[in-house]
Amino acid sequence: MYDIVIVGAGTAGLSAAIYACRAGKSVLLLEEKSYGGQIINTPEVENYPGIKRISGFEFATNLYQQAADLGAEIKYERAEGIRSENENKIVVTPDNEYVCRSVILATGAKNRPLGIENEAEMTGRGISYCATCDGAFFRNKDVAVIGGGNTALEDALFLSNTARMVYVIHRRKEFRGEAKRLEALRQKENVVFLLESTVVKLNGETSLESVEVENVNTKERRTLAISGLFVAIGQMPENRAFADLVDTDEVGYIVAAENCRTNEEGVFTAGDCRTKSVRQLATAAADGAIAGLAACEYIG
Ligand code: NAP
Repeated sequence: MYDIVIVGAGTAGLSAAIYACRAGKSVLLLEEKSYGGQIINTPEVENYPGIKRISGFEFATNLYQQAADLGAEIKYERAEGIRSENENKIVVTPDNEYVCRSVILATGAKNRPLGIENEAEMTGRGISYCATCDGAFFRNKDVAVIGGGNTALEDALFLSNTARMVYVIHRRKEFRGEAKRLEALRQKENVVFLLESTVVKLNGETSLESVEVENVNTKERRTLAISGLFVAIGQMPENRAFADLVDTDEVGYIVAAENCRTNEEGVFTAGDCRTKSVRQLATAAADGAIAGLAACEYIG
């Protein structure tokens, strides 16, 4: 029996654990993959208040260590469902059931796929969703990044240091990502922008050899010879397992306002998995604090 089970050990979940542990509650974190969530793959974080510059890995590791030192337990298991029993909640994983008094859902979001033919088959054979993880495989090769947000800009900057040529493919002329990052990218001699364009076809036998890029206005197509395509077109939530317990919106984000309370008594949510307008490291940490303290208050 735990006071609080937190589903997801990313920035929001670990922050919630820190607050709950400091309030003297017993905390179990359930994590499917590795601690740290999305930020662990970010090369450099420069916008977290109070820290001028830190690698995502170091940030995530510090956060994890802080929570663990305070007594949070972490188990690498996938939470597959939650049910209410009397005053308690039961969190179900493939091999276990954990009884607790309150749950915090901090499941984050996963990379959105392009949704084109052969994408799954080509993943790991030229298609990647993580430039820091896979960039080294494309040293001195030609690659492309698709997307116009901060992830795409950051990935392109990172790749431009090692790849021969980096194409940035974006469906609009305007970028969602920060002007500072865009400017840095424009200074790079080996970066070419293909705007108002999208990738419609992947070519290659055993690995990616080229992609078909289509202009969204003229529908004109060109073949781009690249061996790596880094997909950075945003995230989507994965909350289906909890959709019969808590309200989700049409995309799947858990419905909750700034107080991080769901419609279900004793179930809170924090970070990128909830409905919100700004999904940033700082707002994930803030949510963690709010949800952690709200769960403590609920338990009493
Ligand atoms: P994002 O900001 O949602 O941007 C996604 C981009 O992909 C948009 O430019 C979007 O185009 C494009 N897109 C979406 N669906 C597409 C499709 N089907 N085909 C082609 N293009 C598509 O996602 P993100 O860049 O992953 O960032 C997520 C959040 O994390 C943001 O708040 C971001 O600021 C934050 N972040 C922060 C840092 C940092 O501060 N170190 C680093 C990375 C991310 P449109 O613009 O046309 O919609």
